[in-house]
Amino acid sequence: MKGTMKGAYLPGNSTVVLKDVPIPEPGHGQVLVKMKASTICGSDIRAIYREHVGRGPEGYQNKIAGHEPCGQVVEEGPGVRRFKKGSRVIVYHISGCGLCHDCRMGYMISCSSPLRAAYGWQRDGGMAEYVVCDEKDLVQLPDSLTYTDGAQVACGFGTVYEAIQKIGIGGNDSVLVVGLGPVGLATLMLCRKLGAQKLYGIESNPYRIELANKLNLADKVLLPADTNAGEIKDLTGGRGVEKAFDTSASDPGRQTAIRATRQWGKIAFVGEGGTVNFNPSPDIIHDQKTICGSWVTSIWLMENLVEELVRWNIHPEILVTHRFPLEKADEAYRLMAGGNCGKVAVCFDEELK
Ligand SMILES: [Zn+2]
Ligand SMILES: [Zn+2]
Repeated sequence: MKGTMKGAYLPGNSTVVLKDVPIPEPGHGQVLVKMKASTICGSDIRAIYREHVGRGPEGYQNKIAGHEPCGQVVEEGPGVRRFKKGSRVIVYHISGCGLCHDCRMGYMISCSSPLRAAYGWQRDGGMAEYVVCDEKDLVQLPDSLTYTDGAQVACGFGTVYEAIQKIGIGGNDSVLVVGLGPVGLATLMLCRKLGAQKLYGIESNPYRIELANKLNLADKVLLPADTNAGEIKDLTGGRGVEKAFDTSASDPGRQTAIRATRQWGKIAFVGEGGTVNFNPSPDIIHDQKTICGSWVTSIWLMENLVEELVRWNIHPEILVTHRFPLEKADEAYRLMAGGNCGKVAVCFDEELK
């Protein structure tokens, strides 16, 4: 396809720059995807938007931003085998080498090859009218899911699903989620569908508390306090929840996730950065607790998640509270950085409703 397109770059200092660039051409094994929805992740704000603090896999190489892209294939490069013109696709946002052990397990997030490149970080991402994708990085988007649903899967919901697989959620569980940003809200949504009996959240932002309540995602949302672990124990017969997730990345939040979890319980750390202080013997060892770290997901679990979303008839896009056209990408990032929102999306065509 010839011509130019607009793409959004994040030079730092909380700014967004729109540039006119040539529409890229797909090479061997690649396709050109027309963007439909591209959501903003907390990681974009933390590591790129305000200032470029990321290193290694989080090092921003002045590419078109956006690592949560979803769209439709409009052009096939040579050697493409599965996805065709017209295919609706989610982009698994890390393009791995395809040959290392992590890539062979489907965890391109953990690829250690110098060829590894994340969309929106080291190669052009979804904040543009078009993006060139390696065919191997694509997940089929079912017809019953919207493109905005798909963008939510590309990073956030995939990350949540992975953490859930690691600690397991079912009908025997009560669950605590510390931090109700988009990832925390998604955690509540999926845990509810998996049968968790009681769901508790901890959050300070009034907008996000109201969103959780409006969507009936939690049985109770507490304000952050050093009494939280005790409050959760009171709500659970004195014993604590079976499973907890931390998406807050705060030291006190993580301590609460650990201490509000009962004997033999499991805790997943998903929120990035920061530190945590706890006392191993009373906090985990004597109570036989497990803490798991969880980073993004694998492409095969992303495919499983998409299948489950259809079966459960749930739409991740209900967490998207604001949609902007690409021309207003600066407003979109500013809103996300301020936090008075659920998920924020840059949308195109029919998704811009
Ligand atoms: Zn992300
Ligand atoms: Zn690899």
